[in-house]
Amino acid sequence: LGMKRLLVVSNRLPVTIDKKQGEYIFKESVGGLVSGFSAYFNSLQNTAFTEKDSVWIGWPGLSVEMSDQPAIRERLSKEFGAFPVFLDEATMDKFYLGFCNKTIWPLFHYFFSLTKFEDDLWEQYVAVNKVFCDAVCQIARPDDVIWIHDYHLMLLPEMLRQRMPDVPIGFFLHIPFPDYEIFRLLPRRWGAAIMEGLLGADLIGFHTIDYTQHFLNSVARILGLAHALGRVRIGERTVRVDTFPMGIDFAKYHETAKQPRVIRESERLRRMLGDRKIILSVDRLDYTKGIANRLEAFALFLEQNPHWQEKVTLALVVVPSRVGVDQYQSMKRNIDETVGRINGRFGTLRWVPIVYQYRYLPLSPLVALYSASDVALITPLRDGMNLVAKEYVAAKADNQGVLILSEMAGAAKELDQAIMVNPNSIEEIAGSIKEALEMPEHEQQRRNQGMQVLLAKYDVIRWADLFIKQLLGMRESERKAA
Ligand code: UDP
Repeated sequence: LGMKRLLVVSNRLPVTIDKKQGEYIFKESVGGLVSGFSAYFNSLQNTAFTEKDSVWIGWPGLSVEMSDQPAIRERLSKEFGAFPVFLDEATMDKFYLGFCNKTIWPLFHYFFSLTKFEDDLWEQYVAVNKVFCDAVCQIARPDDVIWIHDYHLMLLPEMLRQRMPDVPIGFFLHIPFPDYEIFRLLPRRWGAAIMEGLLGADLIGFHTIDYTQHFLNSVARILGLAHALGRVRIGERTVRVDTFPMGIDFAKYHETAKQPRVIRESERLRRMLGDRKIILSVDRLDYTKGIANRLEAFALFLEQNPHWQEKVTLALVVVPSRVGVDQYQSMKRNIDETVGRINGRFGTLRWVPIVYQYRYLPLSPLVALYSASDVALITPLRDGMNLVAKEYVAAKADNQGVLILSEMAGAAKELDQAIMVNPNSIEEIAGSIKEALEMPEHEQQRRNQGMQVLLAKYDVIRWADLFIKQLLGMRESERKAA
């Protein structure tokens, strides 16, 4: 494959800059893409790429004054292998909290009633994709490989293609790609621009076969381009569309769970919660995650199974997210109220049914919680993959614990030993809680072992390797055919 340089492009860099008392502070970014993908980025010296030469391009998280930009650029490059796209916060807010999270996010998760269709949001989306294109072109060389990530940058592959006709470009979408009947709700010119934008890539990847099929179907219906076994001809080029379910850094979660201080923390948590059974619920505050149904289901379970009252605690972690979007604020109030109501209704002097934290947990406390929990209750209404489900299973060093998983999560396609539920049915979720709490230990072990083998094998590094191999491989075969 030769020595190539990989340029990773995503909305945010793996490092976030903050400004405190006039000083710039660099810290690790939070979020699924960054935490998962960093493992791969840091392992590049073992592959066709060399680590020091690979670059991650994205927004550093704040406005940087012109005079400070050269120094920041230098430090990001030296210490983090990162290249900043300088954009001011007001522009990024309009982009991220605008078309990204008021249009694409709700629509692609089938929440069309929450979707905004506004021209100025669209125009901002186009404009920011152009700024990213300029930034990539500042640093890219013809023999680089470019891998663009996620729904913020769907126009970028074609914009780059115009400027660099021969560079291999890959694109991966980390959220669902919806059925054509949903996608067509976008005004046709936006929909067509998104399709054409994506088709600027050589390889387009999705988490599940369904998302891949939905995309190919929309390409056929909107652009009139048919495909043969996932290959689309557009002009002189062939674009490959394929399925790559993203894995996790299995070793990280598995080994962290075995660290003495994490074991101590996990035991402390259990004692603190009165040595009761613990059901875990962790997600970002998001309407796609189905948190309200989950809480109602827990209440219904307690009502239907009075003998379980005082014997089980729901540990609810909600991570603040997208604070500038309206729905997110009203959802927060709604969850606060529901938790209060359920605790008021069932709680006693000795027992709080739902222990609730509204904050982000770093790795060790999160893994301690995974490992302390008897059940993980993961019931998104719609989710591209859901990495928390995979991490929970990976963290179960002793193979105890039961995963309840929504069939609407991409992860359900792989984690077939979970108790599968329809997240819209409160009765079904309540029933699954009882089943999980009463599952015999040997049955728990049998299920977790099977899933752990899969997660260990198809970890995030394997996922990225397969994607890159396919991207480079198809360029090879095209070259041979030419
Ligand atoms: N996460 C975390 N601390 C928390 C909650 C979540 O570090 O308190 C991480 C979690 O480990 C996972 C990611 O955030 O890697 C969430 O990814 P997921 O696919 O489950 O959901 P998303 O938030 O991307 O929709």
